[in-house]
Amino acid sequence: MSDFIEQIASLIKKYAPQYGICVYSPIIAQAVLESASGTSNKVTNGRNNYFGLKWRNNRCAISNEYFEEWTAEQKSDGTYSNIVSKFCKFNSLEDCVIGYFQWTNISNYANLKGITDPEQYLENIKADKYATSINYVENLMNVIKKYNLTQYDDQKGDNKMVINVHAGHNPDGKIACGAISIIKESTEARAVKNEVIRQLQKLGHTVNDCTVDNGTSQSDVLKKIVAKCNAHAADLDISIHFNAGANDKSGNGKSTGTEVYVYSANSKAKEYADRVCAAIASIGFKSRGTKISQSLYVLKNTNAPAMLVECCFVDDADDVKLYDYQSMASAIVKGITGQTVSTEAPAEEEQPAAPVVKSLYRVQVGAYSIAANATAMQEKLKKAGFDAILVKS
Ligand SMILES: [Zn+2]
Repeated sequence: MSDFIEQIASLIKKYAPQYGICVYSPIIAQAVLESASGTSNKVTNGRNNYFGLKWRNNRCAISNEYFEEWTAEQKSDGTYSNIVSKFCKFNSLEDCVIGYFQWTNISNYANLKGITDPEQYLENIKADKYATSINYVENLMNVIKKYNLTQYDDQKGDNKMVINVHAGHNPDGKIACGAISIIKESTEARAVKNEVIRQLQKLGHTVNDCTVDNGTSQSDVLKKIVAKCNAHAADLDISIHFNAGANDKSGNGKSTGTEVYVYSANSKAKEYADRVCAAIASIGFKSRGTKISQSLYVLKNTNAPAMLVECCFVDDADDVKLYDYQSMASAIVKGITGQTVSTEAPAEEEQPAAPVVKSLYRVQVGAYSIAANATAMQEKLKKAGFDAILVKS
């Protein structure tokens, strides 16, 4: 499945700019839906019609053959009628992608050019009578969400994001260092934060570490974090925290779990928050879901869409048992990007070679607790012609 998406996404990216099309996720979703992920009758047997493109004279020049197939058309009253239609035949998936752009490159579809919002693109193409399904936009938006297809949209260069990440409190041992129980919030949030940053950077995103280590109070920590966040034009702010209040230090066999806060249900961070929750739940933690809060300082005052991740509970033995910073960080990164990065620790720095200890051979003639006896022996040896040295230890 992801191979199919990768393949079609790269072809769409290759040809879309020539036709003035700026958003890719809705087109990938159309292919997923119309071709049943490349398995439908319109695709197999060398037909290669991934978009259900109907045959129209000269409408798409790259196809010069058609085939006939039953198709269900939805009428405005919601009922369906099955009819036999003529569809374009293509030699390959690549030809079909070119065909899609040729097919839509007529004046009726001019409203697709320059659109960057996936939903708007779908509204427009539906208005152009591309499809008859009443729920066309909704169905395709669900496909986009399900497979995180907006990751293929080209917002900044090659779909790279600018992401601010911070651990939510002062470091351990200082004032305002967060919850302390079986594990310490400040320490674990920093470990997760560092690994999230490492992974996001490995995926090519620009990451700013907005963690604050020198707050003079909790509100000062928050104020400084927000100042650091707002110093960058970012696509997303991520605040990493651990929760407390489970009061289950001995472990009752149940995870208390994870929750992610966003400022409002309309926040652009909401989609990311839902996926982060699901990803953390997939490694065993209970999902307490995405929560809306207008009272959290960071969510309220940051400019970019923001989310606050309460990874799990520091005072739940079950959560602590499940928890390790690497898989927690991987889940967060998976939720944001849809991608996974190896958690292998970065290669150990090469240790400098241990200094070679050369053997040392001493010749000793005596050891004395009384200094005078030692000096007497030294004199005796010197008189005999030896270089005698006295060493006190
Ligand atoms: Zn916290």
